[in-house]
Amino acid sequence: MKLDTRAMRHLTAEDWKVLAAVEQGSKNHELVPVSIIERFSRLKGGSSLVSKCISTLAKTSLIAKMKEAKYDGYRLTYGGLDYLALHTHSQKRHIYSVGTRVGVGKESDIMLVADHTGAQQILKIHRLGRISFRTVKTNRDYLKKNASGSWMYLSTLAARKEYAFLSALHAAGIPVPTPIAHSRHTIVMSLVDAPPLRQVSSVPDPAALYASLIELYLRLAKHGLIHGDYNEFNILIREDVSTNPQDGTAEEITLTPVVIDFPQMISMEHVNAEMYFDRDINCIKIFFERRFHFKPSTPGPFYKDVKKTVGKDGFERLDATLEASGITKKMAKDLEAAIRQHEEEKLQNPEAFEPSEDEEDDDDDEDDDEEEEEEEGNTDDKEKEEQPSIVIGFQSPSEL
Ligand code: ADP
Ligand code: MG
Repeated sequence: MKLDTRAMRHLTAEDWKVLAAVEQGSKNHELVPVSIIERFSRLKGGSSLVSKCISTLAKTSLIAKMKEAKYDGYRLTYGGLDYLALHTHSQKRHIYSVGTRVGVGKESDIMLVADHTGAQQILKIHRLGRISFRTVKTNRDYLKKNASGSWMYLSTLAARKEYAFLSALHAAGIPVPTPIAHSRHTIVMSLVDAPPLRQVSSVPDPAALYASLIELYLRLAKHGLIHGDYNEFNILIREDVSTNPQDGTAEEITLTPVVIDFPQMISMEHVNAEMYFDRDINCIKIFFERRFHFKPSTPGPFYKDVKKTVGKDGFERLDATLEASGITKKMAKDLEAAIRQHEEEKLQNPEAFEPSEDEEDDDDDEDDDEEEEEEEGNTDDKEKEEQPSIVIGFQSPSEL
């Protein structure tokens, strides 16, 4: 699944209305019948205009026609949901142009974007259910029929949860990207100009960096939270240079960890909290030993000790953030089940999930889905890399 924004600017206001109508109809229909699309789109041009728009959207693979026993209908594709989210971000002036893909996560696409002032930001597009989609390919009905397993529901939920935690943690002063906006299965946040720990080959003082990673983890715990995927991909290492106030020369470089990636975050009260806590801490220990040949001299930290610190020292508990953001217990459970399933698949087939910074944009996805048709005149991958960022916002007359 690639985000291809090229068709965005060719869509008319009517096309957008019809696309939004398919989205609205999907809430209650597995396949949205044309009559519903007509009703929700409220277009003055009547059914001939609606069918023209449907045909444009289907050609651009934003919606896909499906034939069922009872009736034919349309459903939104990943691309369609991407476009709707981008359209919202563009209208609210949070995104003006979309640049290259930076992070390659298998559950998400991380894109560099810019707002109207040219400031660079990150767009994270959640793709939960994508892999499961492949593995259950032979039995697609499973996902089609089961709303709690559908990619649209799960990806949207993951983004909502991540945005809620990002906002809460940011407000609490934890070093995380600044949340900017949220729409459907996407979030916009500040770009952290720092490599993931995974890319850091050596540091002057591994013990100090280790201590700061543990300290950050224990701060989350005091807020009542367990990250759940605290590893070298989800910790960015920022270099803060302090300068000598007298002559302006660089004095000291401090390495500050910035933590990202929160869809799997859980409460310190969770039934499996201790297991996730130990797994996170071990991940950091193993990485430090392998990469920096550093081993802490004392054991721990231990869950049972840390548990006593939750909510202490004036730390506000943030583990009720989800409920406060309208995510119900049922939704949280569905999301957790999908993430757990994803983790299991990862254990069984680690190569398919290994994110690597220099990975080619190789989303072969020929099996992704039937909507993934190559557009005519597609440039090859190399050209795409060099492609300047694509403007998705509506241009002002002076720019035309
Ligand atoms: P996933 O859920 O797919 O693991 P992440 O949120 O961890 O997605 O992002 C994947 C990668 O993208 C990260 O390892 C990091 O390299 C990059 N990344 C994500 N968010 C940011 C950000 N705000 N600033 C800079 N890089 C980021
Ligand atoms: Mg990650």
